[in-house]
Amino acid sequence: MPARPTVELRFYEELNDFLPQERRKVAFAVEVDRARSVKDAIESAGVPHTEVDLVIVDGSSVGFTHLLRGGERVAVYPMFEALDIAPLVRLRPRPMRDPRFVADTHLGKLARHLRMAGFDTLYGNDWDDDRIVALSLAERRTILTRDRAMLRRREVERGYCVRAVESEAQLREVVAALQLESLLAPFVRCRECNTPLEETTREAVIEKLPDKVRALYERFKRCPTCGRVYWEGTHFARMKGVIARLKA
Ligand SMILES: [Zn+2]
Repeated sequence: MPARPTVELRFYEELNDFLPQERRKVAFAVEVDRARSVKDAIESAGVPHTEVDLVIVDGSSVGFTHLLRGGERVAVYPMFEALDIAPLVRLRPRPMRDPRFVADTHLGKLARHLRMAGFDTLYGNDWDDDRIVALSLAERRTILTRDRAMLRRREVERGYCVRAVESEAQLREVVAALQLESLLAPFVRCRECNTPLEETTREAVIEKLPDKVRALYERFKRCPTCGRVYWEGTHFARMKGVIARLKA
């Protein structure tokens, strides 16, 4: 039997995180049989299509549905790679001006950090994948997950696979990967329910404040949905520190 046709794949930058050691940062062959879409070839190597922003086949940028027939050289670049690729076919929208997220069930801490950093982030600890994907599509939210299988689903348009394990490291990773630095806005959103906070006065919330806080802080905000009161206490100071380091 004649050998099946193959194409040469090469992944760049953090897309290599998805590959086994021997395939990282080198070109390798995958079979395409009669014809195989670029998207299918990429995912057969274990890289979710949602991570990919640019595919170059024999020097030309192509879309995911481009068919490979054998012999081509395919270079695959990640989302938000810092290249000027404006004239090429971008497979993802540019960094969002108004980023919105829906976090997978195991990313509750990251969801709270993102809210504290000002980002609209939905999260439910009992949401299944279908619900998360549906919310992403209906509200154009970027899915944040550590589960590659969810991002490989055909209908998913926006997603980011979080590599870090510790929640503050996850926040740093997401902010850097999605280029959100200029959009960081602490103290504007409820970390528990995601509602934008309202300014309030000490007098209006004094009943809810611990004694120490009444004396120490000047500025207060209140969540109109769940009623929580926020002041620039220890948690906020810590988050401000995290954000200052992110911006630096
Ligand atoms: Zn709230």
